[in-house]
Amino acid sequence: MIQQIILATHNPHKLEEVRRILGSLGIDVIGASDLNLPDVAETGKTFYENALIKAQAAFKITGKPVLADDSGLCIPALDGIPGVYAARFAAAHGGYPAVFEYLNELLVGKSRAAYFICSMVLILAEGKVHTFEGRVEGHLNKLPSGTHTFGYDPIFVPEGYCETFGVLEADVKNKISHRARALAQLADFFRKNNFE
Ligand code: IMP
Repeated sequence: MIQQIILATHNPHKLEEVRRILGSLGIDVIGASDLNLPDVAETGKTFYENALIKAQAAFKITGKPVLADDSGLCIPALDGIPGVYAARFAAAHGGYPAVFEYLNELLVGKSRAAYFICSMVLILAEGKVHTFEGRVEGHLNKLPSGTHTFGYDPIFVPEGYCETFGVLEADVKNKISHRARALAQLADFFRKNNFE
C-alpha cells in the first residue's frame, strides 16, 4: 500500500484539503514546501498539461510517488474564462475581492453558471502516469460571502446548495468539490489496484 505521497503544490489550502481526504485512507501527504521544491511555471494550455508539468517536475527531483493538480474556474457565458488562468486573472484584476466586481461587469445580462474543474496527475514510478478529473457545477453570486476565503470560494454556490463555498463548512466542500471528486477517483484507483 502507498503510505506517502508528495503533493506538488505550495498552496496551503489545497494541501489541507488533500490531507483531509487522503488522510482518511491512511496516506500521509507531504507538501512541496516541506521539501523546498521549486515553483514550476504553469505553461500548459490545459488543466491536464499544467498538472503533468508540476507532477513531472516534482517526480524528477524526488523520485517518489507524486500527485499534482491544476484547477480553475470556468464560466461558459464568458467562453470558459478564467479557466487555467484563474489565479493570474484574479491578480490582473486587483486580486480578491476586486476581481469579483470585474466579473460582475463582464456578466451583466449573461448566465452566471460556472464550474470548478480539477485535473490530477499521479506519477507512481517512471512512465506510470495516471490522470483523474473532478468537476463541480454551480453559479456565481454577485456579492462575496463567508470566511473561507480561498480564491473564488466566496462567490461560488455549488449546485444543490444555497450558500457559497466561502460559507459552507470545509467538510461539505471536501465532499463535493472538484478536488474531492478527482480524489475520490484516485482513492478508487488505489482500491482497485490493490494498493490498500
Ligand atoms: P492552481 O490549480 O493552483 O493553478 O489554482 C488555480 C486557481 O483557481 C486558484 O488560485 C483559484 O483562483 C482558483 N481555484 C481553484 N480551486 C479553487 C477552489 O477550490 N476554490 C476557489 N478557487 C479555486
